[in-house]
Amino acid sequence: MPLVIAIDGPAASGKGTLARRIAQTLALPHLDTGLLYRAVGVRCLEDGLLDDEAASIAAARMLDLATLDPEALRGAEAGAAASVVAARPGVRAALFDLQRAFAARDGGAVLDGRDIGTVICPDAPVKLFVTAAPEVRAQRRFKELAARGSDQTLETVLADIRERDARDSGRASAPLVKAEDAVLLDTSKLDIEEAFAAAMWVVRVKTGGG
Ligand code: C5P
Repeated sequence: MPLVIAIDGPAASGKGTLARRIAQTLALPHLDTGLLYRAVGVRCLEDGLLDDEAASIAAARMLDLATLDPEALRGAEAGAAASVVAARPGVRAALFDLQRAFAARDGGAVLDGRDIGTVICPDAPVKLFVTAAPEVRAQRRFKELAARGSDQTLETVLADIRERDARDSGRASAPLVKAEDAVLLDTSKLDIEEAFAAAMWVVRVKTGGG
């Protein structure tokens, strides 16, 4: 069975950084699935059609992995728009095959998102659910945004994270939830090196490396 590593968790939990490092270390391709929803959200925002479900489904169907520009999609507005379109089952269905195909590559892949271990790759041999306290996540995201020149306050960032958590966890379609067989990794008190070491330990144990 190919080595598929499914990494889920809420916004700013550190799952993206972990996924990238694990992928690099194991020389596996990596897909940040949040970018797909961000791209759809931004497309709809630009067209003034964020409330239009049919338009968001059409945008999801037309999405081309090769044209994604991660840098242009990292902002807070893109994240908020992503979580609006991501609540629509039609959008999720339109992005399903693309994610499945990525995960089915020979040799395996690392995917991170909200529903990788539960919906996209329920049979993945390694599943991690990465989380941290909302205040810790807000602080991390605040620093990241400030470094990019954003003038958002910590309070705004925390409010945005809470709103996103509520929307992602409360939605009917593929809500953010830990897969039963996922290993929980709380990074509230860990720095990136410690979190990475813990994640790699889980990978080794789950793949029989001990
Ligand atoms: O991970 P990131 O913050 O980039 O995700 C943006 C939004 O996209 C999330 O808040 C969530 O609503 C949505 N998303 C999702 N399923 C995924 C990845 C992201 O619903 N697999």
